[in-house]
Amino acid sequence: MENRPNLQIYALGGTIAMVPAATPGVHPTLTADDLLAAAPELSAFAQVSAETLLNKGSANISFDEVAMVCRKVAQSDCDGFVVTQGTDTMEETSFLASLLHQGKQPIVFTGAMRSPTQPGADGKANLVAAALTAVADKTPSVAVVMNDEVHHPFYVTKAHTSNVAAFQSVVRGPIGQIAENNVFLHPFQNHPTFDTPDGFAPIALLTALLDDDGRMFDHILDAGYKGLVIEGFGAGHVSEQIADKLADIAKSIPVILSSRVRAGVVFEKTYGYRGAEMDLLSRGLVPAGRLSGRKARILLSLLVSLYGEGWQQEFSNVVKHV
Ligand code: ASP
Repeated sequence: MENRPNLQIYALGGTIAMVPAATPGVHPTLTADDLLAAAPELSAFAQVSAETLLNKGSANISFDEVAMVCRKVAQSDCDGFVVTQGTDTMEETSFLASLLHQGKQPIVFTGAMRSPTQPGADGKANLVAAALTAVADKTPSVAVVMNDEVHHPFYVTKAHTSNVAAFQSVVRGPIGQIAENNVFLHPFQNHPTFDTPDGFAPIALLTALLDDDGRMFDHILDAGYKGLVIEGFGAGHVSEQIADKLADIAKSIPVILSSRVRAGVVFEKTYGYRGAEMDLLSRGLVPAGRLSGRKARILLSLLVSLYGEGWQQEFSNVVKHV
């Protein structure tokens, strides 16, 4: 009797699927079937089907397309899923998927730092490791697997432009590793998930910069953004000039305070000077905890779209899990 688990690969493009084409450089070309054909090892431990949903550079993936992948997963009875895509935005797509995927079957995102025709191409190894993780016991509902490490979407970030070890979970390290075809996972905390909204509210992300007069901030409301995330200096600080602009914006739309530093929590009760976190929070900003600005932007977009003015309670609830 067949006892291998059913595994579904959804391909979205990215370097793992990129080969030289008619115009210079590599371009997204290979299909999900091509990726599967290049990795016959998968059939040793899973019955695999493959489908190409998109074939593009990951900068072009939309929130709606991530929701579409989650919807397909919800409609399938497969035991596990691998999503192949570009690494550039994987920290964002996987984070959104982790908020939208309400089922238990794992969705494991993977890709490649080197295209299939480059020496030392890592796509096949990543695909096999991701597939093993997708059918392993106790894999979180969404994970990122790159370079034989399993990362939680809340923490993972692309931290190098070319190294095959580009993916890091800066706050807490990977939640697992793959060795000798075994998946070793550390315990992790479950977090809230949400329904998919009809559309996603546009949220801006701006970064505090030394000696910036903040003229960009003057256009946020006119541009129609429904929220703003500011990546402050250090533990959540901006200049006095920017602090006043943020306080004004926060009278109209949600403003989240995150940090441009890659690791650590946004402070809430240490620095009291004008432009520091205590001042900003007292003037209506909401702290992102340990969520990066990019992830806070995605969470805010989802929650504003679902709950309108009731976004804040759910936001704080998710931040507690980070
Ligand atoms: N530019 C590519 C992409 O994100 C990079 C990659 O896949 O690693 O689509």
